[in-house]
Amino acid sequence: MSAISQKGYIYITDHIPANTPYNRRPRLALVPEYITVHSTANPGSTARNERAWLTNPANKRTASWHICVDEHEAVEAIPLDEVAWHAGDGTNGNGNRRSIGVEICESGDRTKTLENAAELIAVLLQRLGLGTEKLRRHYDWSGKPCPRILMTGNWVGWENFKREVGKHLDALESNSGLTNPVNPTIQINPTDPTTTVGFTVSPKPVEPKNPANSTNPKGSPDGEALPRIQRRVEGTLDGDPVEFESYLINNTTYVPLRPLAEALGLNLIWQDGKYHLITGTVKER
Ligand SMILES: [Zn+2]
Repeated sequence: MSAISQKGYIYITDHIPANTPYNRRPRLALVPEYITVHSTANPGSTARNERAWLTNPANKRTASWHICVDEHEAVEAIPLDEVAWHAGDGTNGNGNRRSIGVEICESGDRTKTLENAAELIAVLLQRLGLGTEKLRRHYDWSGKPCPRILMTGNWVGWENFKREVGKHLDALESNSGLTNPVNPTIQINPTDPTTTVGFTVSPKPVEPKNPANSTNPKGSPDGEALPRIQRRVEGTLDGDPVEFESYLINNTTYVPLRPLAEALGLNLIWQDGKYHLITGTVKER
């Protein structure tokens, strides 16, 4: 269990534009019933490389995916409630129309990459209320030998991987109530609202310093009682550990904006009734 909270990868949301050529982001609604696992079949390519390829003018294929994960990062390229074209089973196939496509990179440290993938997929299953029986290989939809890195021994690798996902899922669920996974996110590029960075964390309950003050008796100015700090979220920022105090409200974890912004090296200014985030890099063109 604690092993999970020790692991970390940065979860980056970097959606491809709606007008990406070759209909790679068709904007069709997706209600995920399965998660489909792929590997990139490209040993030198990281998650960011794969994301860049989706918007590379040289790319002429109608093919896309939702999340690509490597040894350090997971990149979300298409919102998880929109269809991506990854399963090879046609416009109306269940793979394409009812599953989230996760690409596992073949670059870097394979063990770490597979650990990240198993953790990521467990988090997705938990959020969706699904079990490992809802995992599919690309192969299951269209017969393509994918994810090829799990084909060894007549798919023994796949069976092992599913078991690993199951362990992560069990660990998440055995902490249920406090383990709804959280990805506090903040926009890092004010000029591009689709770019966000987040932390994949496992919640860790924190005892209130004084249980008698576990709710704020005075309440917030608009009369709603503030929750006590429920947990600290831990993660990494460019590989360095970071940690924030957070609040759990209606199963969503909230992190105060200023410490998160400052950890990301952003300046946060309150002016004219608005927050302004300044990266210091915007004007360097
Ligand atoms: Zn595939």
